Amino acid sequence: MEMKDKIAKIFLEKFGEPGGSFYASAGRINLIGEHTDYNEGYVFPGAIDKVIMAEIRANDNGIVRAFSIDINEYAEFGLNEKDAPAQSWARYIFGVCREIIKRGGNVQGFDTVFAGNIPLGAGLSSSAALESCFAFALNDLFNDNSIDKFELAKIGQSTEHNYCGVNCGIMDQFASVFGKKDHLMRLDCRDLQYEYFPFAPTHHKLVLVDSRVKHELKDSPYNKRRESCERVAKALGVPSLRDVSLAQLNASRISFSDEDYRRAKFVVEEKERVLEVCAALERGDYEEVGRKMYETHEGLSKDYEVSCEELDFLAGLARKCGVTGSRIMGGGFGGCTINLVPDNLCDQFIATAKRDFCEKYGHEPHIYDVIISDGARRID
Ligand code: ADP
Ligand code: MG
Repeated sequence: MEMKDKIAKIFLEKFGEPGGSFYASAGRINLIGEHTDYNEGYVFPGAIDKVIMAEIRANDNGIVRAFSIDINEYAEFGLNEKDAPAQSWARYIFGVCREIIKRGGNVQGFDTVFAGNIPLGAGLSSSAALESCFAFALNDLFNDNSIDKFELAKIGQSTEHNYCGVNCGIMDQFASVFGKKDHLMRLDCRDLQYEYFPFAPTHHKLVLVDSRVKHELKDSPYNKRRESCERVAKALGVPSLRDVSLAQLNASRISFSDEDYRRAKFVVEEKERVLEVCAALERGDYEEVGRKMYETHEGLSKDYEVSCEELDFLAGLARKCGVTGSRIMGGGFGGCTINLVPDNLCDQFIATAKRDFCEKYGHEPHIYDVIISDGARRID
């Protein structure tokens, strides 16, 4: 059964009457631009054809009654600060309500049933989709769409910070709210300016290969990477690596440790790569996009050192199979590779990745193919 029909059926069972409005918001990929956000560089995400969808109807009893189809749980909460629900999935909805109210917006009681098809915790930001779906819906239902879209993304981000204990940036919620079919968005993490670029390959697919490994590292590598970047920027007398060119960096190379130099080199090169990929997409040059993806992988692996054996294996395998581009997506040390795969190689690549990875590491990776699609929306 289609997701919408299933939600409608269960809404009727749970709440006795039909008649709610339907909303959806999407998960996201990031094509290129990794570890650039905290260096005031660019990220380049897009919304995907995997969503959270909700039916929502205002009630007149001032409480929120929510049913999660996928988790098969019901939660009920009021809209005051002290009413935070225990279930973690419900805290995302509660947080969105609270963050709207905090900003002077209006939220009244409502009934909702929701479901999704974004794999949880696989790096596709199911949580941002959940937040964006409800932020968009409550803006439409109770606020005449008076809250602007950037604020909706920030409402999701603040929900993660204040109710879910995740200190995330803005990219995931931004992508989920602003996503547009056949377009990626270059977001400038310095001033939050953004621009759409066409992404509608006719002979390639985007395929994620999820290694399902996550290496837990003791010595907080993320903080160490940040510290390296900050040290180099400071030594060069600029606010962030955004302001540094490769020539400048190389001219001062002897002032840095080899490690700091390589970290900074990756960030400076990655910033340029995002711009080069944007230019390539405007020409429809997907071969160039793929080359840049491989370069990012090399940089993340050799210079930034946030890869791991399994992800290097998957990127290497992609290259061997003739895949156009492949790289780690996300912070590193596990998770997915994102692959730009020629249509005619797709089946063979997926079969080979499953078989060879399983032979070496004892379990099959999960495969997700994604199409760049619309973000938050009302569904009629
Ligand atoms: P991700 O990287 O996918 O965002 P998170 O751990 O940040 O992973 O968010 C996953 C959480 O979001 C789940 O534990 C759950 O609370 C909530 N969530 C995501 N998708 C759904 C869904 N379909 N139904 C209910 N809750 C969901
Ligand atoms: Mg998340």
